[in-house]
Amino acid sequence: MIPSIHRDSKIIVDLVAIKQNIKKELARLTNRQEMFAVVKANGYGHGSIHVSKAAVEAGVSGFCVSNLDEAIELRNNGIQLPILILSYVAPEYVELMVDYDLSVTCPSLDWLIQVNRIIKQLDLAKPLAIHVKIDTGMGRIGFRSQEDMSQAMAIIDNNPDILLEGLFTHFATADSVSEEHFNLQKERFTVARALFPEKIRYVHTANSATTLWHDAWGSNMIRYGDAMYGLNPSGNELVEPFPLKQALSLETTLIHVKKIEKGEKVGYGATYETKTNEWIGTLPIGYADGLRRRFQGFEVLIDGQRVPIIGRVCMDQCMIKLPKSYPVGTKVTIFGTNQHQFNSIQSGADYIGTINYEITCGLSDRLPREFIDNTCGEMEG
Ligand SMILES: *Cc1c(COP(=O)(O)O)cnc(C)c1O
Repeated sequence: MIPSIHRDSKIIVDLVAIKQNIKKELARLTNRQEMFAVVKANGYGHGSIHVSKAAVEAGVSGFCVSNLDEAIELRNNGIQLPILILSYVAPEYVELMVDYDLSVTCPSLDWLIQVNRIIKQLDLAKPLAIHVKIDTGMGRIGFRSQEDMSQAMAIIDNNPDILLEGLFTHFATADSVSEEHFNLQKERFTVARALFPEKIRYVHTANSATTLWHDAWGSNMIRYGDAMYGLNPSGNELVEPFPLKQALSLETTLIHVKKIEKGEKVGYGATYETKTNEWIGTLPIGYADGLRRRFQGFEVLIDGQRVPIIGRVCMDQCMIKLPKSYPVGTKVTIFGTNQHQFNSIQSGADYIGTINYEITCGLSDRLPREFIDNTCGEMEG
């Protein structure tokens, strides 16, 4: 789907904010720790190419994506820094991984056995770089048994075309006040770490939450995602150690304004009834753009005031209650700043009972993305 550029609904991404969120975290790392920017899922909906280029300017050392296609997209758009694929890539794509100079997660002994077999039949230009994933308590992908880990090392030692570039794990509760499960995962990773060689280029445990609240425990590289976009990975549970700046705004404009009589209905299901004569505005954005139906009642911003979405959100449009008449074309802010008022993505997530990640990732490709940048890339404040 191509973005609908002739309609007045758009995402605006402040790349200056993204660079600040990176630089502030980089300043907290030791000089032996590097940052990989996590730009999977189209940069959490922000636009992976623009975000990646901004991240390079801000000083990251590499990138994490979720799958092979996301990685190839970065390479095809001029990103030359290391790229790590965090999720499963089918062993049959070994040549593609090497051709595009990608590092890939080794999620299990089975995977490694298959890759080992395939690689032996190929004449690779250089070794395949793998990051062995240890499942210390996330229960998603990764090695759990020490026996499997030892067998994996034996395979790696015997195949010069497989390079052990990284060893890593992923914490399930680094964004939570309770540290019990986090500590269990730490213990398990410490045990696993000892089964692998001393020298490994990247040993990494930290997502945003682990670096914000646990000093990137055990990492010489961090995988920095949500916080880079200026979002708090814990939602409202933990206070971020430095101010994060939300990079994404969602804006639209009024396309229709009318006064309707008291006792009239608005929207599918006729769920809203006017209590007096009311000014109603229509917005060209709906659930097909990622403005989920549960946003009914959520307050958006117009002329520096909060006004509710009334009636059910339609696929392509929704209605808001206006305090007075405004001209068609008046700006309406769903997330971001409108005059002195600010709507956080977190407030939207709270409203519909989800996490900030899901809000930005859920914004569809129908929305055009506009980018704000400065040329010098200087950090403010
Ligand atoms: C998505 C992901 C991250 C980034 O997490 P944030 O909470 O956005 O920082 C890090 N590591 C892995 C394995 C991931 O899947």
